[in-house]
Amino acid sequence: MSSALETSVRAALDSVVDPVSGKGLSASGRVTGLVVRPDGKIGFVLETGVGAADEPLRKAAEAAVARVAGVHAVTAVLTAEATTGARTVAPQRIAPSPAPAAPMVAKPARGVIAVASAKGGVGKSTVAVNLAVAAARSGLRVGLLDADVFGPSLPTMLGTVGQRPELTAAKKMKPIMAHGVASMSIGYLVDPDQAVVWRGPMVMSAVSQLINDTDWGDLDLLFIDTPPGTGEVQLTLVQKLALDGAIIVSTPQEVALADVRRGVGMFRKTAAPVLGLIENMAWFEQQDGSRTYIFGKEGAQRTAAEMGVPFLGALPILSLLREGGDAGIPAAAGTSTAAEAFRLLAEAVNEALAASPNKPAPKIMFE
Ligand code: ADP
Repeated sequence: MSSALETSVRAALDSVVDPVSGKGLSASGRVTGLVVRPDGKIGFVLETGVGAADEPLRKAAEAAVARVAGVHAVTAVLTAEATTGARTVAPQRIAPSPAPAAPMVAKPARGVIAVASAKGGVGKSTVAVNLAVAAARSGLRVGLLDADVFGPSLPTMLGTVGQRPELTAAKKMKPIMAHGVASMSIGYLVDPDQAVVWRGPMVMSAVSQLINDTDWGDLDLLFIDTPPGTGEVQLTLVQKLALDGAIIVSTPQEVALADVRRGVGMFRKTAAPVLGLIENMAWFEQQDGSRTYIFGKEGAQRTAAEMGVPFLGALPILSLLREGGDAGIPAAAGTSTAAEAFRLLAEAVNEALAASPNKPAPKIMFE
């Protein structure tokens, strides 16, 4: 079935003429890395070759593929010569057909991972911060972007409240370094007490500016703490971010899980694979070592299995996690069992990224 789809996709690509060779785009050999997923998600790389005409050509190729019956989303990437001379891939995300969305942001890291939740207060930011710190401790160059403009909590959790980014000579913001992680947040730019009423398009432009106007340097991984929810704002945002994957955080509670199903469904409308589900607040450990399952037992784990999404791990309710968040010293920076749990979670995330069809991930090395 997918090979018939691939034939149709190649035929659609050949309907667009490569101005260099005069052949169809597929026949010209300029299309590489074609991925045709049975669910109708298509990805490919278009080699540059005609300078300014590359981008219109890429758009034409996407449009042609988007028209193929059975195609639900197209991710086209253009290889480009960066100003540094390094050969990089500039990703362009395309919304599901028939209405392709304009690409919003350049790719700031080799692996860009959204940390998402369908509801607020489930520990999404806590998980994002601690995963980033754990990945950085393993030797990776890690960035963390606070795209949760509705409630930016990263400055508090990283202990960087009140800091303001310096500007580079090229007028880019230098990320604020904390616990080995390069961070950027709207909280560094806007007074925390200042009430901002965000509308959909404002969220997009704020987040795209935070990504594009930051000098991230050479990152292995960028974690993006996204606004909670599965509404139109979130969908558009994740569609426009050049994501390599998404992690969904949930409590085991039934009401939260109904939302998780929506969250997984949301990412399935994008080209980004769901790398897995993390169950937070999975249990509370009594003094005698026995566990109380305050929000129910293993609900997220079951939902992950039901939905065919990898289960990455469970985190208990630990006062250390709350205290660390409030004090700006993430638990993952320490030596507790929580730090060890996040080390393992970061490893699981990295492995899921490496195994995902879109992505060769950097390998985390543990000493
Ligand atoms: P979200 O980003 O989903 O809104 P937060 O990460 O801000 O959630 O977490 C909400 C509150 O719960 C914070 O005070 C945080 O410290 C606390 N918290 C999150 N996860 C845990 C946990 N596993 N154990 C104890 N407290 C937690």
